Amino acid sequence: MSSDTDTTEIVLVTGASRGIGRAVAVGLAPNRFVYINYHSNQEAAQATLDAVRDAGGDGALLPFDVADDAAAQTAVKQIFSEKKRLDILINNAGIREDMLLAMMKKSQWENVIHTNLNGFYNVTKPIVRKMLSQRYGRIVNISSASGLMGQAGQVNYSASKAGVIGATKALAKEIANRNITVNAVAPGFIETEMVDGLPVEDIAASIPAGRLGTADDVAACVNFLCSKSAGYVTGQVLGVNGGLC
Ligand code: NAP
Repeated sequence: MSSDTDTTEIVLVTGASRGIGRAVAVGLAPNRFVYINYHSNQEAAQATLDAVRDAGGDGALLPFDVADDAAAQTAVKQIFSEKKRLDILINNAGIREDMLLAMMKKSQWENVIHTNLNGFYNVTKPIVRKMLSQRYGRIVNISSASGLMGQAGQVNYSASKAGVIGATKALAKEIANRNITVNAVAPGFIETEMVDGLPVEDIAASIPAGRLGTADDVAACVNFLCSKSAGYVTGQVLGVNGGLC
């Protein structure tokens, strides 16, 4: 904690309206205040906030596009103006626009890089500056098994998620001496709207565990990396993939 007088940790989860982000926000909720970022789905984000409150925390909605640098900076200013600090940042917002590279439009490349990789920069940079002054922080970046092993049809997505892993390892080295940890979680196939349209039964058969993961499987790992007990774990990539890679 950055303050001895207030024990409520402040959290920002990007892309928390649905899927993994929602499960992470709810998992971190007890005794914390969670800013719930999303892009456009306010109804789903409100359901996340309700679930955060049911889980014993509090929070607020914080809509902005992580790919928009100015919007991210304004949102970060709002957090520090309201709460004076941020203890935990989860960079989770992400999209996929799959296409074989030979047929990939420049816009498909750029959209995915802008959201998944530039989004990391836009949100993390202004927050790291504040965490350095606080001398405390936990940052968890949601990467992907695609970023570790490459996935056909996802050259853009794999590149963005591998980029996040490199950024995680480099940033961890820059700020470890200020008591700030930076780690990545690399999920395999997780049952969310992101896998809608994929051949789920065929995929499950190819996973050693025999099933897709759940958003709660990912949230449990994020929770550990955000705990006080994980203070000596930094620059690591934790796979959550049922043995896929
Ligand atoms: P999802 O169900 O599609 O949810 C995506 C979330 O990101 C939503 O809350 C969405 O907000 C938000 N979002 C998208 N673009 C955004 C932007 N530009 N600015 C702010 N928020 C934005 O996805 P998911 O499966 O939970 O995935 C979460 C993360 O895990 C992603 O980074 C994804 O790449 C990664 N991941 C997922 C899997 C998987 O199998 N599901 C596997 C490996 C990694 P709105 O609701 O407003 O649209």
